[in-house]
Amino acid sequence: MTQTSQQQVVLEARGMSKQFGDHRVLEDINLAVKGSEVVCLIGPSGSGKSTLLRCLAFLEAYDDGDVFVEGELLGYDRGANGRRLRSRPARLREVRRDMGMVFQQFNLWPHMSVIDNVMEALVRVRGMKRDEARRLALEVLDKVGLPEKADVWPSRLSGGQQQRVAIARSLAMSPAIMLFDEPTSALDPELVGEVLQVMKQLAEEGMTMVIVTHEMGFAAQAADRVIFLDQGHILEQGVPKQLFRAPRTERLAQFLQNYL
Ligand code: ADP
Ligand code: MG
Repeated sequence: MTQTSQQQVVLEARGMSKQFGDHRVLEDINLAVKGSEVVCLIGPSGSGKSTLLRCLAFLEAYDDGDVFVEGELLGYDRGANGRRLRSRPARLREVRRDMGMVFQQFNLWPHMSVIDNVMEALVRVRGMKRDEARRLALEVLDKVGLPEKADVWPSRLSGGQQQRVAIARSLAMSPAIMLFDEPTSALDPELVGEVLQVMKQLAEEGMTMVIVTHEMGFAAQAADRVIFLDQGHILEQGVPKQLFRAPRTERLAQFLQNYL
């Protein structure tokens, strides 16, 4: 992917629907994320947030609708017997590589030092020389505030530090967009702030991000737009101020009550 201007749509879903068996989990999702935009996805447990993120990253096949990445239609086709892959798998892998994913579980490789965790994909996937990869890895570790942890084992780090390494690992690949699925939900409360701080910094630097979160304070401060998902529908969306201060639906008002 190339450098994106602010107004260009980086990632878009049109009419996306998804069901597991008889259970409709996503229903006619329309969502366009522009360059440098920070979108926070909120909603009750089971409302389809993770599934939406996974479908947007082509980690899960949706049943209906289309996904565009920088204007290119990718993903699946309507076939007679369900959906078939539309894009060549190699193209899909390429595009996926440009999407940084950060999950609740950091999934660092326990048998590799911190810097090797960050370098691994640079060397194996990007084919970068080791010393060049090491230089870049140190740069991103510096960015997440962990330059001195390069040579330690992940198990020696706190959860917050491990998640910052996971962010650095994604960042090293220079993604066009980063998708976060509850990146602080597995952390002890006192470690949440340092991870959110790194994400705020990325937002300020213009990274395009979609973030599933229960951190309403963070969403209020960092998001350009907040989307409330309820039972697989986008029920409301808007700038944080409007959405948090003046919810239009009873469902959102009720949901926000839990965070007061
Ligand atoms: P959220 O992230 O908002 O909590 P999910 O996207 O994880 O919601 O799940 C939405 C709904 O889809 C839930 O009812 C969940 O049980 C169901 N679901 C998620 N993944 C699967 C799966 N692999 N198989 C069957 N049902 C699933
Ligand atoms: Mg989830």
